[in-house]
Amino acid sequence: MLKDRFYYIDAYMQEFDAIVLNEGEDDRGRYVILDNTAFYPTGGGQPHDTGLLNEVPVIDVEEVDEEIRHYIADTLHKGDQVVGRVNWERRFDHMQQHAGQHILTAAFVELFDIQTVSFHLGKELVSIDLDVEEVSSEQLQEAERLANRIILENRPIETKFVSEADLDQYKLRKALAVTDEIRLVIIPEFDYNGCGGTHPSTTGQVSAIKVLSTERQKKKVRIHFVCGDRVLAQLHKKNEIVSEAMKSLSSPEEEVPEVIEKILATNRALEKSLEASKEELLVFEANGLMEKVQDGMVTSAFISRSIQELQKLARLVVGQHSEVIVLFASESDGKLQFVAAKGDFVKQSMKEISTNVLTAINGKGGGSDSFVQGGGERSMSAEELLVLMREALN
Ligand SMILES: [Zn+2]
Repeated sequence: MLKDRFYYIDAYMQEFDAIVLNEGEDDRGRYVILDNTAFYPTGGGQPHDTGLLNEVPVIDVEEVDEEIRHYIADTLHKGDQVVGRVNWERRFDHMQQHAGQHILTAAFVELFDIQTVSFHLGKELVSIDLDVEEVSSEQLQEAERLANRIILENRPIETKFVSEADLDQYKLRKALAVTDEIRLVIIPEFDYNGCGGTHPSTTGQVSAIKVLSTERQKKKVRIHFVCGDRVLAQLHKKNEIVSEAMKSLSSPEEEVPEVIEKILATNRALEKSLEASKEELLVFEANGLMEKVQDGMVTSAFISRSIQELQKLARLVVGQHSEVIVLFASESDGKLQFVAAKGDFVKQSMKEISTNVLTAINGKGGGSDSFVQGGGERSMSAEELLVLMREALN
C-alpha cells in the first residue's frame, strides 16, 4: 500500500532500516528495490531524494511499475541489510518549496479564482503556470502577501489517505484522477488538494515565499518564486549584484537604474560619432591608396582589419577610379581575408580571383564579376595572398 511507505508515514524520517528485495539495471543505471523506503521518488513536480544506503550513494530514485528503484553508485545485493540515510538538506528544501507552491497556488484561487496548471521545482527557482493570460503586479503582490500571512499563521499541514466515497467532504481545488488510494494535503480553511509529495507539518516551516518574476507562456503566465532558505540565497545573490553595480557606478542603490540609463544613452551617442569619424577616416585612407595606383591596380596588405572595412574601402576607391582594380588582403589570428573589386571600365571578372584563392586558403566566399570577397585559413601571409590574387588575373 502507498500509505505504508516510510516517506508517507513520516515525511521527517531521515534514517531507516531496510532489506534489499531485488537488484537490477536499466538505462538509468544499476538499482535496488527495498522492502520499504524513506527515499522520495521523482513525482508530482517534486524531484527525487538522494542520500546513502549504507556507504553507497543513492543518485536517483524513480518509481517504475509501482516499484521504487534506488539508483546506486556502487553494488548492493539481494538480501543485504541496509541503513538508508536521506540527504535531509535537499529533501527539506523540496518540502518547503512544495508546500510553498500549494500555498501560493491556493492564494491565487482564493483571491482571483486563477488556477495553477503546472508546477516545476528547479535547482534554483520554482515555478507555477497560471491558467490566465495576464497577471498584474498588484495581483502578484496581493497573492504573495496572503501566502506569507498563511505561513506566518503557522497553520498545520495535514495529509490523509481517503477513499473515493469520502471525497465530497472536502472542497478540493481541482478534480482528482480517482485511484484506490487518494492522498489529500490539507491546510485547514485554506487548501484541500490531492498530492503525492512530501510537505512540512506546518506552514511556518516554509519560512517565507518571494515571487521573483513572471513570464508569458503562450496563454499562461509563469510565476518564478522561491521559499525557505532559497529566499535568503536569492536576497544574498541580488544584494551582491547590486553592491557590485553600486561600486562600479559609484552611485547609491536607488540611483543605479538611472545611472545605467544615462551611461547607455552616452554610449549610443558616442558610437554614432565614432561611426561617423571612422567613415571620414576611411575616405582619407582611400584617397591615400589612390595615389599608389600601379599598372591600373591598387593593392594593399593589412593586419586585423574587418572584412566590412575592407569592403567599404574598396568601394570608395573603385567608385572614384572606374579604370582600376583593387586587391586587399588582411591577416588576423588564424584567418586570412580578401576583397577584390574593379571599376566600371575594367573588363576582367573578379570571380577568377575568388575561385583560385579560395582553393589555396581552403576558404569560403564569392561575389559578382565586379566585387568578390572571402576568407579562409592563414596558410600564408597577406602579402603572399596578394601575389596569388594578382596571378589569378593574368
Ligand atoms: Zn504537494
